[in-house]
Amino acid sequence: MAQTKGGKRVAARGKRQKDSGRRMFLIPAALAALVAVLLGVKFLLARTGREEAGGPTPPSWVTQELLPVNPWSRPGTKLEQVDGVVVHYVGNPGTSAEQNRSFFAGLADQTAPAEGEVDTNTYASSHFLIGLDGEIIQCVPLDEWAYCSNRRNEDTISIECCHPDEEGQFTEATYQSLLKLVHWLQEEYHLSGDQIIRHYDVTGKECPRYYVTHPDAWAQFKEDLANEAD
Ligand SMILES: [Zn+2]
Repeated sequence: MAQTKGGKRVAARGKRQKDSGRRMFLIPAALAALVAVLLGVKFLLARTGREEAGGPTPPSWVTQELLPVNPWSRPGTKLEQVDGVVVHYVGNPGTSAEQNRSFFAGLADQTAPAEGEVDTNTYASSHFLIGLDGEIIQCVPLDEWAYCSNRRNEDTISIECCHPDEEGQFTEATYQSLLKLVHWLQEEYHLSGDQIIRHYDVTGKECPRYYVTHPDAWAQFKEDLANEAD
């Protein structure tokens, strides 16, 4: 056994000499590999839009799938202050959060009207979409405008919720995710319960429908939200 050990020591010494020669080549190679990896990561981040995301970082239960910057769904306008959260319904029964996100993303393919021509393009997006299973997708960074809440685009965060039918009531999973997300935003921006509003409270539009036609359901949501804070 001792011999074997000695043999190993010799072999190791020989290896060390070889290694020092190889190191001259390995260090630049390793650096080049590192640079390649970093560039790859940067490329992937840029593709997902994550790199451009500003504002507070959402919790891990939020999936970030930022829209490309474009005039119709992500104008890139800076959101200077946040004075509230506006809750919406998507108005398209049975659609998923991902489908609604694709709709917003597809708006980027519109064509700008020629000078003097009427602009018939659709402008729409929301910061967050909550799906029927409670999944949450972020479409717009929190330090940028979304096109969702009319005159309140300039100082609010918007959340659109999916719903199974025309009536517009949220599923239990959607409702629970909405509570969790609004609660997080309240903490992040120090917002009171009164600063959590419906699209209806901005324009009188029947949105989110069920929580406009059933004011008691909206009151219950506010109550549940207050309990979430405890
Ligand atoms: Zn709305």
